[in-house]
Amino acid sequence: MKQNNTRKPSKRLRQKLLIYFLGFSAIILGALWLMQTVFLDDVYRIIKTIGIEQSADYISENIDNYNITAILDDIHRQNDMHIDVYDTTQRVNFYHLYTSREERDLSTDYMPHQLRNYYNDAKEKGGEKLFLEEYTSVKGGKKTPHMPQSEHLRVKNMTCVRILQDGDMELMVVLRWAITPSASTVATLRFILIIITILLALLSVTMSLIISWKFAKPLKDTNETAKRLAREDYSVSFESYGYREVEELNSTLNFAATELGVASKLRKELIANVSHDLRTPLTMIKGYAEVMRDIPGEMNEENLTAIVDESTRLSNLVSDLLDISKLQSGAMPIDKKIFSLTTCISDILSRFTSLSLQQGYSLSFESSEEVFVFADKARIEQVLYNLISNAVNYSGERKEVIVCEKLADGIVRVEVTDSGKGIEPEKLKNIWDRYYRADKNHQRAVVGTGLGLSIVKEILDLHGAHFGVFSKVGEGSTFWFELPVYNEN
Ligand code: ADP
Repeated sequence: MKQNNTRKPSKRLRQKLLIYFLGFSAIILGALWLMQTVFLDDVYRIIKTIGIEQSADYISENIDNYNITAILDDIHRQNDMHIDVYDTTQRVNFYHLYTSREERDLSTDYMPHQLRNYYNDAKEKGGEKLFLEEYTSVKGGKKTPHMPQSEHLRVKNMTCVRILQDGDMELMVVLRWAITPSASTVATLRFILIIITILLALLSVTMSLIISWKFAKPLKDTNETAKRLAREDYSVSFESYGYREVEELNSTLNFAATELGVASKLRKELIANVSHDLRTPLTMIKGYAEVMRDIPGEMNEENLTAIVDESTRLSNLVSDLLDISKLQSGAMPIDKKIFSLTTCISDILSRFTSLSLQQGYSLSFESSEEVFVFADKARIEQVLYNLISNAVNYSGERKEVIVCEKLADGIVRVEVTDSGKGIEPEKLKNIWDRYYRADKNHQRAVVGTGLGLSIVKEILDLHGAHFGVFSKVGEGSTFWFELPVYNEN
């Protein structure tokens, strides 16, 4: 399917961060503006309610204090709150005991009927009541007939009336507080808000520049190094640092670079090996055929056998290559059947009989009983053949190969042991890799494509079988694998 490549190119990190920061600042500023314009009155009222209640409580606690007048003066001065205290013991006439108002403010004294209402309402509510009152005041204090409407100020007051008992005396405390923020307060808040707006905008730009630089720089470095890797420079090292994610990315890329380097080296080795392996039998076949064509009397069985042997070697190599690519691409499904593993091993060993007779190899098979397994017979034969032929090829001077079948807990373990020179420990983990050959000197005496064990590994992996190798340099190697025994019950 064709990829749709119409996606718009993404924005740079710096642009994105700037957008996010500005968005974040806009939300904060929006909330602040909203607080000031829409909710300021409400917030002010809540704060004032708490304040007036606390003052009333404080007065209640200290009403019998001989210093009460000084306390009331203090509260008035600190909070700009009007306080009046009346003696209401007589009920009929309220006697004004205390006022925080100054001489010139006495005109704003409460009217007697208003005081009576306060008293009745507070009594009804159990001794305390809060009133919210609103009235129009005038800038500068005096109202003139032609004064424009805009000069009038709507003022909101909160009045807290509390009735207290001081010995035999009943007292009524009236606290009054303006709850409309003054024009100067509003102007100050507005000014502060403008400064905050400018500061936040500047901060957003600076922060997005600094952060994008900090974040983008290591990524840019990594990208530059990755470009070198893409141009097949496997010696690159990803070293940019700054934060954990980029360091983890770099260590993954370093690992990938090493792996790619190894794979590329193996590929080159394979091309060298395979081309050598392909060319040698082809040259020999051609040579023998030409000799047989051109020289009378050379058309003999010996030469024909040489041609047949070389063709076999060639066809083995080609089929190994085909097998491994099919196995790895999943094009070779596993076809499981029940078969006798013991018979299978004997059959394969018998293929090597002529070898043992001609070249003095000793191949033996140790088995206690016939074992059946449920597996892909052809593929398991391939595994056994590859392991046994490796054992033969690498068995060294002693030419001894032992195949052993062991049973334990419903599992059959097949071991192929040779008496060869063994494999060095550091090379052990690589022998299952494709095209890996422990001995880099490509010796034709030892037949092999470097694919045998990777085919074994693929097949055993597809069966979910355990497998492995023990090897001791100078003593030999034991390759093993395990399969579950097929039990009819
Ligand atoms: P090859 O075709 O070269 O034998 P394999 O994949 O079968 O390829 O084996 C990979 C390498 O593992 C061999 O080149 C050899 O170095 C090593 N090897 C495999 N089997 C043995 C063994 N029985 N003894 C020693 N070395 C072995």
